[in-house]
Amino acid sequence: MNKLLILVVEDDTPVRNLITTTLKTHDYKYIVAPNGESAVMEASSHNPDIILLDLGLPDLDGIEVIKRIRTWSDTPIIVISARSEDSDKIEALDNGADDYLTKPFSVEELLARLRVTQRRLSSIQASFQSVFTNGNLKIDFAAGCAYLGENELHLTPIEYKLLCLMARNIGKVLTHTYITQKIWGSNWENNVASLRVFMATLRKKLESEPNSPQYIQTHIGVGYRMMRVE
Ligand code: CA
Repeated sequence: MNKLLILVVEDDTPVRNLITTTLKTHDYKYIVAPNGESAVMEASSHNPDIILLDLGLPDLDGIEVIKRIRTWSDTPIIVISARSEDSDKIEALDNGADDYLTKPFSVEELLARLRVTQRRLSSIQASFQSVFTNGNLKIDFAAGCAYLGENELHLTPIEYKLLCLMARNIGKVLTHTYITQKIWGSNWENNVASLRVFMATLRKKLESEPNSPQYIQTHIGVGYRMMRVE
């Protein structure tokens, strides 16, 4: 019952076939683009629900494709990268990508990423509401309070700001640079170190098992993401 339209941007035919076969089997609709120029064109003419974008394309750099699409569209973009360097993923995320897959990836990983993004799509509307809920977590933005079940969380202003930022972007990987800029207005090295400290204290209050967090996932060397908790 998916019937979401996925734009698959990939120049490597075997990889593209693997993706489209998977999508077909799992009831997604799809269109394909073998290069960056056609990706931008297909994105604007078909308005897909999710874009799967290979970063290494023959014509435009994948980052350039993200920048162009982001001038008019907020469609979730999952980047696919053969490059193992974190810097490519980070640059893609900083330019507006939502998530990433590293080649080689399994069919299960691809489907998991799509499910996370699909859930994110359904929470985008909700993120504009004045009360946010996820599992036992509840944030009343108007009152400036957060609760875990019946209990109010006693958060410092920075922890609260951090929690709200993660919640407003549920399902999306936020980079260290993005978070520190939103929280402190700059991304000094020191702020990234502070971010780790604040994240640790926030988790102690939020997570029942801070060592295997349920709400906030760590992406080592990249950033953090709030997951939807059932
Ligand atoms: Ca490629």
